[in-house]
Amino acid sequence: MARYIFVTGGVVSSLGKGLSSASLAYLLQSRGYKVRLRKLDPYLNVDPGTMSPFQHGEVFVTEDGAETDLDLGHYERFSGVTAKKTDNITTGKIYSDVLRKERKGQYLGKTVQVIPHITDRIKEFIKHDTHKEDFVICEIGGIVGDIESLPFVEAIRQFSNDIGKKNALFIHLTLVPYLKASDEIKTKPTQHSVKELRSIGIQPDIIICRSERPIPLEHRKKISLFCNVDIKNVIETVDVKTIYEAPISFFNQKLDIQVLNYFKLKSKKPANLNPWKKITKITLNTKRYVNIAIIGKYVELKDAYKSLDEALTHGGISNNLKVNLIRIDSEKLKVSEIKNKLKNVSGILIPGGFGKRGTEGKIEAIRYARIKKIPFLGICYGMQMAIIEFARNQLKIKKATSSEFDKGGVHIIGLMHEWEKSGRKVKGTDKDLGGTMRLGSYDAILKDKSKIRDIYKSRLIKERHRHRYEVDISYKEKFEKKGLIFSGLSPDHMLPEIVEFKNHPWFIGVQFHPEFKSRPLNPHPLFSSFIKAAKNHR
Ligand code: GLN
Repeated sequence: MARYIFVTGGVVSSLGKGLSSASLAYLLQSRGYKVRLRKLDPYLNVDPGTMSPFQHGEVFVTEDGAETDLDLGHYERFSGVTAKKTDNITTGKIYSDVLRKERKGQYLGKTVQVIPHITDRIKEFIKHDTHKEDFVICEIGGIVGDIESLPFVEAIRQFSNDIGKKNALFIHLTLVPYLKASDEIKTKPTQHSVKELRSIGIQPDIIICRSERPIPLEHRKKISLFCNVDIKNVIETVDVKTIYEAPISFFNQKLDIQVLNYFKLKSKKPANLNPWKKITKITLNTKRYVNIAIIGKYVELKDAYKSLDEALTHGGISNNLKVNLIRIDSEKLKVSEIKNKLKNVSGILIPGGFGKRGTEGKIEAIRYARIKKIPFLGICYGMQMAIIEFARNQLKIKKATSSEFDKGGVHIIGLMHEWEKSGRKVKGTDKDLGGTMRLGSYDAILKDKSKIRDIYKSRLIKERHRHRYEVDISYKEKFEKKGLIFSGLSPDHMLPEIVEFKNHPWFIGVQFHPEFKSRPLNPHPLFSSFIKAAKNHR
């Protein structure tokens, strides 16, 4: 049976529970164990798909098509384990499952309550769909003391009793602040947070103390004493310069060893930190850099394009250089400013997006990249905008647009069921494609002798999608005559997946989101190639 590690947070949010869980997963894997990572989110949305990136940061998409919390991205990037639909659940989903069951009369006349019905559903989630994992690491979103997280904390308390304390470990991550005015490190918030946790029945086994500076032994002893945790299990995590240092830092603090000791397990092989050391060195020491402009709607929020920012950094790592991201708000980008704003960039990227606002600036920036031969990568919405730009300016279809934001005009981008209604034969909508999102992994076939085929070095690729609208395949020939090649198509040749412009050093649009599959230890070829082109640009 798997052993369960529950990670809770205290004092403040954003302490890096996701990164800590992901680093621990890497270390345990590296020592020869099979690990799975899961996240329990306390908000009432059924999934984060409907939340604005301004609220919640990026929506991460799994291979099997779930819209999940961005922490699952960290998990995948650090552990290399592909996350599944069954790895993220929210309070909203739990309640909707329980209420659906109640409506069907499946509780046989009982009063439906938080305990046991909600907690039972949470416990079911924690243990279902596991496959011979040695460890399941479950992160609880939010912080201890929040009203919302109470049922989760209660559920993990019960769960640990159900499976036996020796099979469950509680890690609590807290803040140990440094007060400049008195030049002191304070342990009180940690003591209070643990007190809060204990008042709802959980005694942490390991405390991870996040701090700006190293925590002196006497302070760690104090935490050990007041929180009733062995001093060896009071682990400090001092701010790292790059996230790639996190696994190294936890290794140095012996987090993985303490976890194994708790379960009375031995390391099957020595942990290998070399890959992280190598990329940390590149990230911290490389002086050379390229400027890449990201033109999108949510650039002001740091986490809104998390996987994308990461994937670009990975592309830099594989080219031994730093990627300097210039974030440009597409809603504020005036056409007259484009030349000036983009004058020092070596690559232009238009990410995924929704809705009309900011589209004209994006389209104009794409025109600039095309004409000035600046490396360009359009992702999902970015590819759709590139199609519109090309149609307007090269195919001279002045009213070319997408039905997503313009009900009039020529819909080169649209919903398949709209084309079907107008009497055209289109791909079967057996997967509910029309009007709903195309989510998760889909195959694409790459054209012989194309740039993209060269980049992927494979004829068949699988990439993750998250969109409703598609490029109308019936325009393929018209585009190709002018040099914009449809170099990747769905296996039935009905859906354009990739376009590339022949008369340009590097101009590619993809209907999917390659950023979800890039990993620091295995950078995505498309990002490596894009950054290489940017490097060669000047
Ligand atoms: N809004 C576009 C669509 O739904 C693109 C979505 C995206 O970029 N992820 O098709």
